[in-house]
Amino acid sequence: MYDECDASTLVVIASMTEEQHQPAPGKAYKPGTCRQCTPDGCAQLTWAQGILAAHRAERAAWRAARPPQ
Ligand SMILES: [Zn+2]
Repeated sequence: MYDECDASTLVVIASMTEEQHQPAPGKAYKPGTCRQCTPDGCAQLTWAQGILAAHRAERAAWRAARPPQ
């Protein structure tokens, strides 16, 4: 039941993960506070960066294929 989700859900989760790891004062998420973070890096952030890189490449290709407006 919970073993699958669609691509847009993955991108949202990956974006939240990336946001969590961006240092900024006064925000709810702070880098280093996710449960996957270790002094040597973060498996969840590594996963998210792969998802986002693929998503951004796909979106860039989609935009490049569109005629200029
Ligand atoms: Zn982390």
